[in-house]
Amino acid sequence: MTKLTETERLKRRHASHKKWYDKVRKDPKYIEKFRTQRRDRWHSTPGKAKFWNSYYRDRRDTHPEEWMLHAARQRATKRHRPFEIEKSDILAVWPVSNRCVDCGTEMVVRTRCAPSLDEIVPGRGYTPTNISVICKLCNTHKSDSSLEWFERVAARIRRAT
Ligand SMILES: [Zn+2]
Repeated sequence: MTKLTETERLKRRHASHKKWYDKVRKDPKYIEKFRTQRRDRWHSTPGKAKFWNSYYRDRRDTHPEEWMLHAARQRATKRHRPFEIEKSDILAVWPVSNRCVDCGTEMVVRTRCAPSLDEIVPGRGYTPTNISVICKLCNTHKSDSSLEWFERVAARIRRAT
């Protein structure tokens, strides 16, 4: 019998554990068990959630393009759309004045005019030529509101003033 080095021993141990875990992780009997385990571990270390939440929030504020890229990749995967951009592509289309391309408001993180990534033609996917950086308010309206809605609201506001 050959004697294993410590590294080899650990490698085998990890491999066998992974094999077991891959088999068992989809088993409904274990899913609940793992979930409870994770929850207990998370709550037994106070301050952990608070620390990571504030860490990611600060990271989002200081590097919004990273978060945009991450979220866009998830959306593209979910909707089976092309995804061919990188962080540099987002920074390339970022307005120099930091003002929204559509409405001209200055974009500030954690406000309703926070910068967000826009798919210019919806459904064509995230490609370097099909993205722009606009404010969250514009982006929401672009995806949810119709032209008729805008005209109706505009008419009401005009009547009110
Ligand atoms: Zn805007």
